[in-house]
Amino acid sequence: MDAIKVHKHYEDYAKKYLNIPNVNFEGLDPLVINEMLEALIYAYKKYPELRNVFCSIGNFEDLKAHFSLAENYYEEMVTESESDMFIIWSLLNRKTHNNFIGLSYSKNLVGKTLKEVDEVTCNDAKRGLHPQSCTTFKSSVYHEIGHIFDFILRLRKDPNFLKIIHEKYPYESMYTEFSRYSITLEEFIAEVFAEYMMNPNSDEFVNKVGKYIDRKYEILKGMGIFNINEIYWRHIRRAEFESTYARSK
Ligand SMILES: [Zn+2]
Repeated sequence: MDAIKVHKHYEDYAKKYLNIPNVNFEGLDPLVINEMLEALIYAYKKYPELRNVFCSIGNFEDLKAHFSLAENYYEEMVTESESDMFIIWSLLNRKTHNNFIGLSYSKNLVGKTLKEVDEVTCNDAKRGLHPQSCTTFKSSVYHEIGHIFDFILRLRKDPNFLKIIHEKYPYESMYTEFSRYSITLEEFIAEVFAEYMMNPNSDEFVNKVGKYIDRKYEILKGMGIFNINEIYWRHIRRAEFESTYARSK
């Protein structure tokens, strides 16, 4: 199969089986795409509600295009990250709902082989930038899913969740002891979650945090809070209808 067909094959797979409406893997090594999809498949198996979350996967420009389609909905704009190989667009309209979550790969990932990409992550983990089991590219996908759970399950505002964290790390300044990337509570939560996904037999603290997230997920699933791509599509369809209607008048 030539490269274009391979990309199309993966894009179709993500649309059909992962329920992601907009997918673009342009410029990525097929093995990198495969790793990304494997990480998502594993996460979807553990947390099936994720299939209602993602509106898009693509590069920054691509996501920006989908994002601007529903522009009047959004209040926050995220800029492309240089350091992250992967960023998440989790945009929140504070008045209404969470309504657009997309997974984006940065320019750093384009044209790199999986081996090169894994090597970067592995070296970062070795110098303490990431927790001990986050040694491959897959961990960056889980890190982003950690942000999604923080966001949707409102972990950072949850006193019981924060109690578990502060029993082990009483001060915010101590988060970087877990991983040097954990410079804020948000990043810390994403890092602990990535470690939990990479190594279910990680230490007691990671397990406690992971199990808490699992329990909260179980309690809140099925209540519609994960239905983000549906809200996104409803908005897009309404915007299309309105523009057609305006033209026909
Ligand atoms: Zn992050």
